[in-house]
Amino acid sequence: MAKKTNKHHIIPRSREDEILNPHTDQNIIILDRDIHEAYHRVFRNMTPQETLKEWLKMNITVISSQTRSDIIETISTERVLFYSSKVIKKL
Ligand SMILES: [Zn+2]
Repeated sequence: MAKKTNKHHIIPRSREDEILNPHTDQNIIILDRDIHEAYHRVFRNMTPQETLKEWLKMNITVISSQTRSDIIETISTERVLFYSSKVIKKL
């Protein structure tokens, strides 16, 4: 019987760049396979910061203006401040 879970890289491995390091233990979680597949159907290989932006677009009509402002501020944060130092490459 096939396993029902598999590993998800929160920051996709394909999105590694000069700032983000997806090859850390903190970047990997175990997800139910069906949920994992559905997640990538919606958010493809977006980074968490991009995912939050997409999530806001999907939910904009029910979000309060204060929450919208808070999320927009968060989305606009520099990546080195948005992410944990555990996934930021040493500069
Ligand atoms: Zn994944």
